[in-house]
Amino acid sequence: MGDRWRIEVDRSVCIGSAQCVNRAPDAFRLDSARQSHPVEPDADAGEQVLAAAENCPVEAIVITVLGSGEPVFPPEE
Ligand code: SF4
Repeated sequence: MGDRWRIEVDRSVCIGSAQCVNRAPDAFRLDSARQSHPVEPDADAGEQVLAAAENCPVEAIVITVLGSGEPVFPPEE
């Protein structure tokens, strides 16, 4: 892929289910309030991060292409 991504978690939406941490343990951490945070908000594009976003039960994870802001997940409708 080669892109760099901006990873954001909408903490008003996150329910702390930890699927993202299970899918991409290097990319997400839960804090003491069971809210997910990206380990590195700006990261190399990767399948694990995308799978984490796709499998979040409440779509709290938003991925855009760093620089252009083009949506990666959720995809543009
Ligand atoms: S999978 Fe979604 S709801 Fe669950 S902890 Fe991660 S961001 Fe939060």
